[in-house]
Amino acid sequence: MGQISSTLRRVQGGFAHWCPGCKEMHILPDRWTFDGNLENPTFSPSFKHSFIQRVFVNGEWTGEWKRDAGGNTIPYICHYNLIAGQLQFCVDSTHALAGKTVSLPKLPEGLTDEYQG
Ligand SMILES: [Zn+2]
Repeated sequence: MGQISSTLRRVQGGFAHWCPGCKEMHILPDRWTFDGNLENPTFSPSFKHSFIQRVFVNGEWTGEWKRDAGGNTIPYICHYNLIAGQLQFCVDSTHALAGKTVSLPKLPEGLTDEYQG
């Protein structure tokens, strides 16, 4: 367990990577197909992470949900393919990178280990 490349960590039950759309780590479960390429990984099929939007103050969840004018909670979707180290975000994602393709980012500081690349 721990960092296994500049972009991936091994975690219980899968792999974890930084998502530049959500600004958090996502887990890629072991039951997905992985080509074994640690620096430019390909996983299939696509990943779809869906949440209810939360209220954060200073990076801490307040325990509250964001709500629309009608008082309803707001869905949050992050849907993408990870192919050859490229995150291909689907248009149904609710964040700013929907429909865009970006390189899998290196793990941010604080989420890296002492690791010999
Ligand atoms: Zn995401």
